[in-house]
Amino acid sequence: MSKSDESTGRSLGVQTRLVTSGRDTVAQKGFVNPPVVHGSTVLYPTAEDLLAHRGEYTYGRTGTPTTRALQDALMALEGSQCAGVGIAPSGVSAISTTLLAVLKSGDHILVCDNAYRPTRNFCNDMLKRYGVETTYFDPMIGNGIAEFFQPNTRAVIVEAPGSQSFEMPDIPAIAAVAHERGALVIDDNTWATALYHRSLDQGVDISIQAATKYIGGHSDIMFGTIAANEKAWPQLSQAIRLLGVCAGPDDVFLALRGLRTLSVRLAHHQRSALEMAKWLAERPEVLRVLHPGLETDPGHAIWKRDFTGSSGLFGVVLKPAPEKAVHALLNTLTLFGMGYSWGGFESLVIPFDCSGYRTATKWAPGGPALRFHIGLESIDDLKTDLAAGFAAFNAAC
Ligand SMILES: *Cc1c(COP(=O)(O)O)cnc(C)c1O
Repeated sequence: MSKSDESTGRSLGVQTRLVTSGRDTVAQKGFVNPPVVHGSTVLYPTAEDLLAHRGEYTYGRTGTPTTRALQDALMALEGSQCAGVGIAPSGVSAISTTLLAVLKSGDHILVCDNAYRPTRNFCNDMLKRYGVETTYFDPMIGNGIAEFFQPNTRAVIVEAPGSQSFEMPDIPAIAAVAHERGALVIDDNTWATALYHRSLDQGVDISIQAATKYIGGHSDIMFGTIAANEKAWPQLSQAIRLLGVCAGPDDVFLALRGLRTLSVRLAHHQRSALEMAKWLAERPEVLRVLHPGLETDPGHAIWKRDFTGSSGLFGVVLKPAPEKAVHALLNTLTLFGMGYSWGGFESLVIPFDCSGYRTATKWAPGGPALRFHIGLESIDDLKTDLAAGFAAFNAAC
């Protein structure tokens, strides 16, 4: 419950909580936002306080008024099942910290085949070196995941929808099986954010976001968040402490600033991306659009059941065409930047191909694939830009 809930006795909508949570006007001397506290040393008034580590803040790494404000706001966003939120210097750091927190040598982990590629890299390299075995599973397996469990399976990683290919797993079904077998469920919730997908309410134990993307929202920070329920929070907070995971104060401040406008930005990304996805689906050059918010998408029913919105990122499979035609399309675009990452205010596009690293499923979409992030520009300008790209594409075919 946020401060405002406590003082008014009213239960507030999530958009209100995004605005009101993590604000302590008195401590902030009247200012709306918290100060950006650059700090390591915290001074104690007495020897007794020092030796007992007594006080609201004890050392920069373990928390400042800036990190506290952000964590309070993130708690309000993640919902009533959230027992604590850890912050990390990147999304990948949030993932690696979580895995080191819950696994030990001799354990086994199940990872969805469409997991973010650096997640796979961490499992295949560092976890392997530390004696943890990884098995990849088809994200669409549902409760068929039961057959992949071993006596030493400690955790399952899901991503909804998955990186690049946008399959939508049945998280509640997977979580039910995992919990029956005593395993934790970890969700990479970067695509929808907790605003559109309350993973902790759906059986997930640890929900990770690359706040680099939508929470930051302006392509200017690297940041990660780890929200955990009562069951998972103790081991997670201990690992954060042991590993010394913390983030720089300017990025903490910018993450909080981004959070305040998350609901309006995401609503715009959602609207424009859906319109663009439908427009692309009508193009003669397009074979398929990969977007769970579209009724024609195989993941639509699950998305509709479990999510309250969709974001600005989706995929498109083009009809078979030579690489030079795809490059002509990409090189003609002026409003769509080409670059990794997404979630900022600007539109982006990259070509992608999952065939080289998927192991439990086969990626054979039938044509070249592109991933779009639809930003906050005027949608008609974006369509005009893409139409010019398609003209260049056709000329090069
Ligand atoms: C970008 C991304 C990450 C990693 O975030 P960084 O802040 O770049 O380390 C993790 N998961 C998903 C799904 C992402 O898209």
